[in-house]
Amino acid sequence: MKIGLEIHCQLTSLKTKLFCGCSSDYRGKTPNTFVCPVCLGLPGSLPVLNEKAVELAVMVALALNCEVAPQTFFVRKNYFYPDMPKNFQISQYDVGGSIAIASGGWVGFLVGKTRKTVRLRRIHLEEDPGKLFYHGTIDTSPYTLVDYNRAGIALLEIVTEPELEAPAEARAFLQKLRSILEHLGVSDGGLEGAMRCDANISIEGGGRVEVKNISSFKDVERALTFEIVRQRDLLKKGVKIQTETRHWDDVRRTTLSLRVKEEEQDYRYFLEPDLTPVRISQEMVELLRSRMPELPDARKERFLKAYGLPEYDAEVLTSDRAMADFFEECAKLYDKPKAVANWLMGDVLQCLHSLEVDIDQAKLAPQYLAEMLKLMDRGDISIKIAKKVLWEVMKHGKSPSTVVREKDWWRITDLQTLEGYIAQVFKEYPKAVEDALVDEKTIHYLIGKTMEATGGKADPELTNALIRKKLSQMKKGS
Ligand code: ZN
Ligand code: MN
Repeated sequence: MKIGLEIHCQLTSLKTKLFCGCSSDYRGKTPNTFVCPVCLGLPGSLPVLNEKAVELAVMVALALNCEVAPQTFFVRKNYFYPDMPKNFQISQYDVGGSIAIASGGWVGFLVGKTRKTVRLRRIHLEEDPGKLFYHGTIDTSPYTLVDYNRAGIALLEIVTEPELEAPAEARAFLQKLRSILEHLGVSDGGLEGAMRCDANISIEGGGRVEVKNISSFKDVERALTFEIVRQRDLLKKGVKIQTETRHWDDVRRTTLSLRVKEEEQDYRYFLEPDLTPVRISQEMVELLRSRMPELPDARKERFLKAYGLPEYDAEVLTSDRAMADFFEECAKLYDKPKAVANWLMGDVLQCLHSLEVDIDQAKLAPQYLAEMLKLMDRGDISIKIAKKVLWEVMKHGKSPSTVVREKDWWRITDLQTLEGYIAQVFKEYPKAVEDALVDEKTIHYLIGKTMEATGGKADPELTNALIRKKLSQMKKGS
């Protein structure tokens, strides 16, 4: 099985579009209001290249270990589709003496506990098409609406070699790529549609199938898994898998055939006559290199040294910029970084998954996690209660001490109160008491039941001591 990805990333830190001065802040705006003759493709209009977009593309190329072309061109990629006002897209391609802005490169990332490297084929700049809106789904919609506010937004297309070998690898790669782009500050992957992915997959003996319209990393994994099952099924039945383009339907979670895939010649690439060649001097490359911020791999090395984290923890945390930021904020307030890392990668991540939010949108702030850990250290709450507190904080955004106070979850250390609970447990489980009198090891059952009776609030050590004392008194008494 071979999987290759084409990732379209909007350069969201740009204020304007790639070839005109229209604002790039189009999200949530009235359709077709952020447009001008250039991005509407009106006859006679001329594109002017956004210089900043070239700089950002070079920075991405450097971050991904690519070779930057000393001179690059734009080409027209021709195809008829309603989201493209000009009926061609200004893009880049290795054709007719033209080369993309960068080629080669690689990304290293972690899949589970294994390290993997995927090579990149090229990176190029192009304009985003408009956005189509279907009424319901693509194949049943009676009409389609188009919004050109997105047309002309600067996109960076990153193309990998087909070296990924499983859907989970594709997802892990994308996560790392997003982290790199976010550390660079060029693209905010959290914005709707800012990072879109087409995936091509081929199984030995079959043609190459490209799946388009995948909008989340989770869906990349789903779409690929769906395709593997579909293609294997066909191969088993002796049906030949043809090379085609399929559409990912994220509502029904299936892919459906769009068209038999175009070949390169169908796009009739030719040099864009309205734009001049772009020269990228070595000085400019070095200047941009000197301005590069800390990237995930360097940050990981720093995490190893500065916080003494194991390599695995450092890699997981830096694979998500928001997660790494959260960790560092929290580690400033609470001086046991390994404990912070454990909570983030364990319970916090679990909560985030089930609430389906990213950490930067979560109601848990770094100071809240620090406060909760301090409450635990002081013995105000047990670890069991801490887990419950975390959930409450994540759901309601209240501080941990507020949660503990409101819920009355303070650890019970009052002897009389604890003895009361223990007496109750001894009465309810006489058989367990008999066992414990004979075999000391079974005492944990009684401790567990007492913890349960107090909703996890009992001080475990005190409970242990009190139960032992009660048992030894009973032994003496008999
Ligand atoms: Zn415009
Ligand atoms: Mn493209």
